[in-house]
Amino acid sequence: MIRCIRCGMENDDKNEVCGNCGYSFKEQKVEEEYRKLLREDPSVPEEERSGLVDSPILTFVFGLLSMLLPILVFSFLAWYNYKKPSKVKLEPLRNLGNIFAYIGAALSIFLLVYIVWGLIASK
Ligand SMILES: [Zn+2]
Repeated sequence: MIRCIRCGMENDDKNEVCGNCGYSFKEQKVEEEYRKLLREDPSVPEEERSGLVDSPILTFVFGLLSMLLPILVFSFLAWYNYKKPSKVKLEPLRNLGNIFAYIGAALSIFLLVYIVWGLIASK
């Protein structure tokens, strides 16, 4: 039995299209492979599914940037995305991004203190 992802009707394995809504099962297989590739969370409703860019990915990217370019803005963006609800199952990536953001924030503060202290000391 094949369950149609569009209407939910159970179909015979021999069917190439859904008997109820006419959805192509060839297309369905491609769709399912694509979703596996995206690591989408199956418990998230269809209309809330993400594209490629979701908060765990953004958390990781901004977290990494906050370390490479120690500016508090990137740490903030990473933390902002860390708190947003996730549509894909990428918790390890998200957690790593959050760690990067903390390191980036620490570097930013260190840099600020270093510059201010340098200015005061040079007088
Ligand atoms: Zn159907």
